[in-house]
Amino acid sequence: MSKIQMKNPVVEMDGDEMTRVLWQWIKEDLILPFVDLKTEYYDLGLVNRDKTDDQVTVDAANANKKYKVGVKCATITPNAQRVEEYKLKQMWKSPNGTIRRILDGTVFRAPILAKGITPYIPGWKKPIVLARHAYGDVYSGVETQVKQGNKAYLVVEDEQGGVVEKLLIHDFRESDGIVQSIHNLDKSIASFARSCFNYALDVKMPLWFATKDTISKKYDHHFKDIFAEIYDKEYKEKFAAAGIEYMYTLIDDAVARIVRSEGGILWACKNYDGDVMSDMVATAYGSLGLMTSVLVSPDGNYEFEAAHGTVTRHYYKHLKGEETSTNSVATIFAWTGALAKRGELDGTPELCAFAKKLEQATVATIESGKMTGDLIPLFHADGIVPQKLDSRAFLKAVAARMQ
Ligand code: NAP
Ligand code: MG
Repeated sequence: MSKIQMKNPVVEMDGDEMTRVLWQWIKEDLILPFVDLKTEYYDLGLVNRDKTDDQVTVDAANANKKYKVGVKCATITPNAQRVEEYKLKQMWKSPNGTIRRILDGTVFRAPILAKGITPYIPGWKKPIVLARHAYGDVYSGVETQVKQGNKAYLVVEDEQGGVVEKLLIHDFRESDGIVQSIHNLDKSIASFARSCFNYALDVKMPLWFATKDTISKKYDHHFKDIFAEIYDKEYKEKFAAAGIEYMYTLIDDAVARIVRSEGGILWACKNYDGDVMSDMVATAYGSLGLMTSVLVSPDGNYEFEAAHGTVTRHYYKHLKGEETSTNSVATIFAWTGALAKRGELDGTPELCAFAKKLEQATVATIESGKMTGDLIPLFHADGIVPQKLDSRAFLKAVAARMQ
């Protein structure tokens, strides 16, 4: 059998712990037998990030910009305990944060559906894809405690330090209290909006965007206005041609509609709403091991990954030679997402078809009752008793289907 050829490489970003183990096996069992794989490899494992003073992360992100398509393994974001464990030179920043800053993107999270794995909200028949704005708001907020008797103001100065505007936030005459200020940038909101409109067109899903503009008449309303302006000028006709809609609504109304919906919606959220709602949506669909994630930049760069972390607990079992049953599905879908996008951009339909087949074989393996341990309690199908496979055996079962 001749292997599928690739015109251009995908940027391959290796990672840490159990997902680094799965990474190698996925390539060996599911990709290399079928594809003459071309990648530009960057080792984002913590050891190499430390060795290169994290330059490798910056290089990988720049390569992703050059080649447009990347696939990333989960990586450790170091904390104090990791600094000790790996004897790090310093507490390096989150690689995902670094890549996001360089690509200036929006993160879209989509669940993988399989028959037998019923979402906790049984009405959800199709995926709900969540787009989270990843800049500003409370994540770069400034806050403080205020003593009774003091007043807090919001002050805007010009470049010379002249006061442009001074608004009383509150006169704390009755009690001690707290204040918080947050900001965002038109530039970032506009790029968030374009990423959402582009993604909706890509996957042909209607787009919903929701804020609380009735209460936040300047801040949230500004998000609403920027989305509306960009939609009217740049996307209205494209949406009509694709047969999809853009809808703006209030965040509480959106939550109620989402729960009642059957899915099949791209839901754009501000940073905090997206943080909270993405965990709600992911949990409601079943397992973190079935949640994919893609970073899309407004100028058309794509970085695919699984939404989960490096599954540390399983890795330490693996190191001790014990059996693990770690779900590789989201990582497989990161690879298929990247290969399909590569095929689309390069005009190589065989590569797109391969990615689709690998996705189908993976889902069909679960639907036939063969799965990793995390899915066993979620699986209910008449006449099929689910069988728990170890990490490698699951990949071999998918490979057998591919053959
Ligand atoms: P995690 O790796 O997602 O794992 C948390 C728990 O969720 C696991 O212990 C496991 O539960 C379950 N789980 C997650 N993925 C699974 C899978 N594929 N198959 C089966 N079970 C799965 O999160 P964490 O333990 O909070 O973080 C571990 C490391 O990952 C940290 O160093 C963190 O910085 C990093 N992280 C990286 C990314 C990323 O690169 N995108 C994202 C998140 C976290 P049981 O133990 O109960 O089986
Ligand atoms: Mg969160």
